[in-house]
Amino acid sequence: MQSLRLAEECARCPELVANRRCIVHGYGPLDSSVLFVGEAPGYKGGDQTGIPFTRDRSGVRLQQVFIDVGLSEESSPRVERPRLRCFVTNVVRCNPPANRTPRRAEIANCLPYLWQELERVRPRIVVPVGNVAARVVFPRLVGQEAPPITCCHAQVFAGADVFVLPMRHPARISNADLARFVMALAALLLA
Ligand code: URA
Repeated sequence: MQSLRLAEECARCPELVANRRCIVHGYGPLDSSVLFVGEAPGYKGGDQTGIPFTRDRSGVRLQQVFIDVGLSEESSPRVERPRLRCFVTNVVRCNPPANRTPRRAEIANCLPYLWQELERVRPRIVVPVGNVAARVVFPRLVGQEAPPITCCHAQVFAGADVFVLPMRHPARISNADLARFVMALAALLLA
């Protein structure tokens, strides 16, 4: 699976450097038309596997979404180096202590990595996964502040040359909301 060559060492956020087991950059084909952005690698997931949204509960739920809409070549959501047809990344590349929400300064320190990935992949569809990702993606791609994720989940927003389709974080999503998102993404993929 291709990935961008981004910093293998980064010491911008001392608390995160002390906590992380590895730096987790984006993963997936660089010609993907869909890019998912989460918050930060999870302690039981990406922080151990080195790949966003793998191993932990959130990862397994999101990998199942990829399978359901044809964005994965796997048949199980538990594969830890899945062959994907989408690009998956995070706002912050290091696991925060106790899985806490990344701080404003940590997000600012890490954003250049996300902008490089977006510039290189140039996806047709961007999915901010959860509030933290929505707050950074909306101003840049849609030109407005993000509505609360509970209001905009599974709704399509048109940017200049991209569609933004926000999703509630898989750690907190109901099965009904998950099904609603899968339908919205499947429809957008066909559009
Ligand atoms: N794993 C990730 O990679 N990102 C999240 O936001 C949650 C779990």
